[in-house]
Amino acid sequence: LEEDLYCIGCGAKIQTTDPVKPGYTPMSALKKGLETNELYCQRCFRLRHYNEIVPVGLTDDDFLRLLSQIRDADALIVYVMDIFDFNGSLIPGLHRFVGNNPILLVGNKEDILPSSIRRSKLKDWLRQRANEAGIKPVDVALVSAKTNQSVDSLLKQIDKYRKGRDVYIVGVTNVGKSTLINQIIRQNTGRKDLITTSRFPGTTLDRIEIPLDDDHVLVDTPGIIHAEQMAHYLNGNDLKIVSPQKQIKPKVYQLNEAQTLFFGGVARFDYLSGEKHGFTVYVENNLYVHRTKLENAEHLYETQLGQLLTPPSSEADIADFPPLVRHEFKTTRKSDLVIEGLGWITLPADVTVAGWAPKGVDVILRNSMI
Ligand code: GDP
Repeated sequence: LEEDLYCIGCGAKIQTTDPVKPGYTPMSALKKGLETNELYCQRCFRLRHYNEIVPVGLTDDDFLRLLSQIRDADALIVYVMDIFDFNGSLIPGLHRFVGNNPILLVGNKEDILPSSIRRSKLKDWLRQRANEAGIKPVDVALVSAKTNQSVDSLLKQIDKYRKGRDVYIVGVTNVGKSTLINQIIRQNTGRKDLITTSRFPGTTLDRIEIPLDDDHVLVDTPGIIHAEQMAHYLNGNDLKIVSPQKQIKPKVYQLNEAQTLFFGGVARFDYLSGEKHGFTVYVENNLYVHRTKLENAEHLYETQLGQLLTPPSSEADIADFPPLVRHEFKTTRKSDLVIEGLGWITLPADVTVAGWAPKGVDVILRNSMI
């Protein structure tokens, strides 16, 4: 672009190269926009024409600037997380940026959980991990943005806690924030004055305001890109095979000690010591699980990554795939070994295991959710 152009909807600088960054406009739409003198970025265009919000990502610096505006607001903060990727959903330093504003923590993608998983336990766990990260939510909600499950009751909770104030929805990319907001918009249909042009001063960041019943608004903020997500190591197709999409059908693997399970090429579970036991695995139904002997595991991974053990499947992803890092645990009670973004394995008491995940992806032990 020879001169700087700005979206007349949100004010973001128009660019044609990166679809997930603010101001993205496909070249064809740019030409049309210039001809008609109505230049909208793709995000605002879709919002105007289809009432649909498109996710947009920001770098850490931009996002931190945006968050510091939230500190000065008097609002309820609705913090959307992916229940399968707590660590990857964390906004670093969020607690410092919300000031005294209350946080309502929303665990999204509930539709993926089998019915055997106790919702109350999961909520307790979300709250506990939030506390560890310095976040003290006023409440925790579980929803499915995709299936609209519990979105109604979330709206009631929002109304209860906002006490007549504005609402800011925050979340990193991929947690389903756009999907959730689109559901909320659908439930608020009949409101035409959806898009606004107000912006945070001093930045080119847009905000989208959805009117609430009173004079207040629900503000969608752009998602921060969190580097330590499985999502950033895999292409779109591979990511669908790894991240749970539909309700998980748990699978049981009878393992003796010194046996290993590979989850495609993205993660690994070693049963180091304990009695023969049936391990229940909660991962995406289409992810290939390969059983082998512990002593063969290393060689297998070296020779079969991208072949038998996929994803990763594209040459570029295989070449760039970070080495798996080993995390060893000994259980004292029934527990889940959680691999962020992937799922978990239920462990009995008194076993020693190791979970392996790409560098940066967290592996943790929690109390069993059953
Ligand atoms: P954003 O980047 O946070 O705005 O995330 P999106 O709304 O674009 O969603 C990211 C991915 O998660 C998409 O593939 C969605 O289809 C999926 N997704 C969002 N919400 C849910 C949900 O409640 N359940 C399931 N299974 N998938 C979801």
